[in-house]
Amino acid sequence: MNPNENHAEDIPTDHPRYLSLKHRHKIIEGMHNLVVAEAGLIAHGRGECFDYILSEKTNKFAKKAIKTAVALMLLAKHPIISVNGNTAALCAKDLAHLSSITQAQLEINLFYRKKGRIEAIKKLLENEGASRILGIEEDIMVEINELSSNRRRVDPNGINIADVVFVPLEDGDRTEALKKLGKKIIAVDLNPLSRTSIWADITIIDNIVRVIPQMIEVCRELKKKDKKSLKTILENYNNKNTIQEALNCIIKYLKSQKSKAFNILEN
Ligand code: ATP
Ligand code: MG
Repeated sequence: MNPNENHAEDIPTDHPRYLSLKHRHKIIEGMHNLVVAEAGLIAHGRGECFDYILSEKTNKFAKKAIKTAVALMLLAKHPIISVNGNTAALCAKDLAHLSSITQAQLEINLFYRKKGRIEAIKKLLENEGASRILGIEEDIMVEINELSSNRRRVDPNGINIADVVFVPLEDGDRTEALKKLGKKIIAVDLNPLSRTSIWADITIIDNIVRVIPQMIEVCRELKKKDKKSLKTILENYNNKNTIQEALNCIIKYLKSQKSKAFNILEN
């Protein structure tokens, strides 16, 4: 790594965009450590843009999706959490925690399978407390016919037999393919109009760094409930409403920011 580069710890905590910069640095560090693919930097930038116009907070529709997602994971027979480079770089510790509290194993699944990347992600997750990570043994992987990319390879003991797959920051093709295999899909995606958002059964439209800690909190609460209450949460959820509310939120935010900006421009 270039010694002259800025590091996350160099960002002053009173900087108005402190958190955003901190996460940006985690992604950059992840790239230097092989965890994040070059294209992951661009995907992060797209996410930042949507986060901005969703006012960088967990909105009501995301809270509801988080609760429903956790209920679905707790009701699942074989839930799996799919991990890519960006999610590992941003929230390895929280992913390890979520995996242990929901009993859903982590499966590393990459689009860009550069040599050493799987090992780098595995090491990072294990250092943060994860165990029994799937998607590691190349020679036992099976293929999903619906997909042509690298990510058609899945673990026979993981996504291949999962009934519920949690796919934070997933690509649309794979979400669609997994859905066509009859799996229930939970996605985290800041873009309410991405193919992932549209295809998922539950779309959490919020930043992954805010989502996973809240899922852990909600899981603690929902674990005390019986199956019937969890099923009621699922029955009261409609993903189309989530997408609609996220779009309304963006429109409202843009209008309010336009008024503020024009007040300054006109004075
Ligand atoms: P799709 O393939 O689903 O149509 P896309 O091709 O537009 O989506 P990708 O590059 O495949 O996008 O995936 C990146 C997605 O992840 C983007 O929709 C982006 O908004 C989202 N994203 C990036 N960073 C974050 C983050 N920190 N939290 C939540 N979502 C994020
Ligand atoms: Mg895509």
